[in-house]
Amino acid sequence: MAKLDLTKPIEIAEDVFWVGYVVPNDPFQCHVYLIRNGDESVLIDPGSMITFPVVLEKIYSVTKLRDIKYIIMHHQDPDIVGCYKTLESIMPKRDDRRVVTHWRAYMLLKHYQWETPFYLIDKEGWKLKTGDRELEFIFTPYAHFPGAFCTFDKKTKTLFSSDIFGAVSDEFMFYAEDRDEYYDGVKLFHKHYMPSTVILNHALDQIMSKNPELIAPQHGSIIKKDMIPKIVKELRNLECGLYLLDERETDIMILNKTDEVLRQFFEDAILSSSFDTIVKSLYLQIKQEIPSIRRLEVVGRLKTSDENWVKVEVENANVKKSVFSKFEPKPMEGATYKYPLVVRGRHQIGWIYVETDTLTELDRKFLDVLFRKIASPLAVSFEKDLAYELLEKEREKLLEEAMKDPLTGLYNRRYFFAYLEEKLKERESMKFPLSLVIVDIDHFKMINDTYGHLVGDQVLKELAIILKKNVRLSDCVARYGGEEFVIVMPFAALSDACRKVERIRKAVEEHRFCGDLKLKVTISAGVTEYEDGMSIEEFIDRADQNLYEAKRTGRNRVICE
Ligand code: GH3
Ligand code: MG
Ligand code: MG
Repeated sequence: MAKLDLTKPIEIAEDVFWVGYVVPNDPFQCHVYLIRNGDESVLIDPGSMITFPVVLEKIYSVTKLRDIKYIIMHHQDPDIVGCYKTLESIMPKRDDRRVVTHWRAYMLLKHYQWETPFYLIDKEGWKLKTGDRELEFIFTPYAHFPGAFCTFDKKTKTLFSSDIFGAVSDEFMFYAEDRDEYYDGVKLFHKHYMPSTVILNHALDQIMSKNPELIAPQHGSIIKKDMIPKIVKELRNLECGLYLLDERETDIMILNKTDEVLRQFFEDAILSSSFDTIVKSLYLQIKQEIPSIRRLEVVGRLKTSDENWVKVEVENANVKKSVFSKFEPKPMEGATYKYPLVVRGRHQIGWIYVETDTLTELDRKFLDVLFRKIASPLAVSFEKDLAYELLEKEREKLLEEAMKDPLTGLYNRRYFFAYLEEKLKERESMKFPLSLVIVDIDHFKMINDTYGHLVGDQVLKELAIILKKNVRLSDCVARYGGEEFVIVMPFAALSDACRKVERIRKAVEEHRFCGDLKLKVTISAGVTEYEDGMSIEEFIDRADQNLYEAKRTGRNRVICE
């Protein structure tokens, strides 16, 4: 495409001219258009006094000033109509000249006290016929002015779209191009100019029903036919009303950055059940805006009375969780940013820290706006995470208590029965050998009577250790009652089990109990292997009979069948 000469009028459609002036270094350009239409030419949004001298020169090179019959003013802002008093004073007079606008704009425009009478589109059937041209007006209320409208030239299918389709960008692009720089500028403009997504979509519906082939907005770039569906698609999904985000910050760049991070954060917070994931994603989002971020830290505790603090930290996208007892809030200095973690309307539960290599004033503002919005939901999510963990720990403790004997730490009788039942069920299909041992301390009553219960308890504890040490990890050792213990040995046939128990008997005999007391203790044991068809009661009874036999025949012995 040949380079456009922006110092001259540019004919964007047949007899439709751009006659604007590109103000140097201004991201917010305002355009002026002219429809050449014999002596009934139409000037659209004449512009401000800044652009006026160049605009006037360009109008002269397209048509005579006298031939301008209609001046369409899409609204009353100074960048759109500021030059009109001057223009009116130099245009040769004609009685049929009209300022074309909506009554809502007229209510304000009349205060300029121009001489030119008004043509109110809402009173004229939203149409203007001039020569072989027909202009249609499309009502797009609140986008972004209450009486906003667009003008559609039926002949060339050109839409003069007023504020809609505007853009702000550092680089001036006469025609919209299919690249991020353009879309970003358009999106940013609409996010903060348009009050809501519903309002913008209503306007787009009205506009698209006309099938425009060229869009000439007041600001930004002119949009050719093939770009129209692309940009409409982008705009339809846009969340508008950026200024609703934060009342203290007015910088639209910061608001826009924050808006994007917030959107992602809330999506993660809803979709993810894990706090770690939420914090990690937040870190990655902030990294997009502050690439020098080194670490994001969330520190807190459930109750002020809690001794332990929990810290979730993300460094290089790795999440680490730790618990510690001493916590000194870090000062906010240099490249450390901190924000209090407060559940709305409640006490502070901790802090959020962002550590970076360098922290600019802009970064700080961005983090302020961001955390003003998310500190509270983040705190709630963290609180839930802490409470859940506490609950999990308590549940594990309860479960442990329910199945263990507090004195020896071995499984209890209840667990033993459940375990045995389960193993016997497994055995039904797999048919593995399974042996059962009942162990009883010999003359234990004497130990109690001689040394007292505490020593008796100590003997029980030490015996428990010996039992556990001498069986497989997968065997189940339980305290059956008083000074009786049971061992379930899956995958052990009678001979294997007997050998093992004999080893235990010896180990007990050789062990000296209770430290300096050096007590000698012996055990008796009955062993049996399960046989198909036995009930649990029969099985235990057999082992018990063998134990009885061991006692009867002199103790300190193991009886198998
Ligand atoms: P035997 O050789 O026939 O087994 O004689 P024994 O004295 O070991 O058997 P008996 O059943 O007569 O006595 C068991 C004793 O174990 C009685 C009870 O006070 C004691 N005992 C039961 N549970 C505990 C406990 O948890 N701690 C202590 N210290 N003693 C207990
Ligand atoms: Mg005993
Ligand atoms: Mg006993």
